[in-house]
Amino acid sequence: MDLILRGGNLPDGRENVDIGIESAKIVVVEANLQATAAAEIDVRGRLITPPFVDAHFHLDATLTAGKPRFNQTGTLLEGIALWEELKPTLSFDDYVARALQYCDWAVGQGLLAIRSHVDTTDPDLTGVKALLEVREQVKSYLDLQLVAFPQDGYLRSPIGIPNLSKALDLGIDVVGGIPHFERTQTEGAESVRLLCEIAAERGLMVDMHCDETDDPASRHVEVLAAETIRLGLQGRVTGSHLTSMHSMDNYYARKLIGLMSEADLQVVANPTANMLLMGRHDSYPKRRGMTRVPELMQAGLNVSLGQDSVMDPWGPLNAGDMLDVAHMAVHVGHMSGRDQMLSCFKAITEHPARTLGLEGYGLETGCHADLVVLQGEDPVEAIRLRPSRLYVIRRGKIIAQNEPTRIHLDLPSRPPTIDLGLKPT
Ligand SMILES: [Zn+2]
Repeated sequence: MDLILRGGNLPDGRENVDIGIESAKIVVVEANLQATAAAEIDVRGRLITPPFVDAHFHLDATLTAGKPRFNQTGTLLEGIALWEELKPTLSFDDYVARALQYCDWAVGQGLLAIRSHVDTTDPDLTGVKALLEVREQVKSYLDLQLVAFPQDGYLRSPIGIPNLSKALDLGIDVVGGIPHFERTQTEGAESVRLLCEIAAERGLMVDMHCDETDDPASRHVEVLAAETIRLGLQGRVTGSHLTSMHSMDNYYARKLIGLMSEADLQVVANPTANMLLMGRHDSYPKRRGMTRVPELMQAGLNVSLGQDSVMDPWGPLNAGDMLDVAHMAVHVGHMSGRDQMLSCFKAITEHPARTLGLEGYGLETGCHADLVVLQGEDPVEAIRLRPSRLYVIRRGKIIAQNEPTRIHLDLPSRPPTIDLGLKPT
């Protein structure tokens, strides 16, 4: 074999397991593996996970925070206005350089698959062309899936309709939308219908920014589910954000969740982003503005978590660490039950892998040898500590490495070094 990881813990709770890798694939997963390899790594007590997956991101806007100035109100609408000002000033090379720099950060933290929306309402489609170039440049180490996103409205922007088609013709993977930003509820619903028809005709997936508002009357997700069923797109359509569901009447929400299940709608919540953007028109109490993650999970829907923003006009923070996002989801969604925390870990690994349709993802024999070894010992510890990614492995090759974090103390009668992950004995 090419590589054996010895004695790791797996996300499903198995401990002291060896993973053997040959020709870029996982060839064996078992305890006390009797084999040798060109390289062996002792990972006893460490969690081995398949890579993190970010189901919702904006690579075209990332790392622009402060240009032309910072978002002072913190609202979605000021973010959109800032992006409108910034967009015409961005060059192809600038888009590529920022996206590649961010992908380095992602890889360093074990994030090896990203679904990024890219604005198609830029007249020259410069961002689209740049991100297609980035997708090509990173493909040996990161799966980048691109969504054609009509930021200024598919129907509302004069170039919304033709440019979305052009972006798909150029090779963008997924059909996007923003129904709550169209002029009226009716036009929002019409945009959902037209965009789902395009996806059905072209055989593509759909991922819409949907109902990213505190208005409980914003019910485009209902139309998205109905169109999914009408066109036979079950399992291939994603509703991103869905924050209006937070504020909906419980009776209606219950009916809606049933409809979403029937459509096998993929759900993406973006807790770090929406905790900042939503509830901005509330005094007190202030709504949290995350969609109903535990209820949707309980209903059997495939729920993922996304980052949405890293230092862009909408979000000044985030750093490419999906464990930050899971950590926030646990708090915002009151998901501190152990099973719920394990579900939040799945929502940044296997759930989004399913939403993106990644092939060969996982820790089974025959899967790609794409693995991350963490300093923490299990998924809950990973969320609690957001610890060092000791090894990031892609197709059997170590592509990023980090030292275990230790703190040196100088205290009377106390240990000289501590590891925050070590439990009391
Ligand atoms: Zn977004």
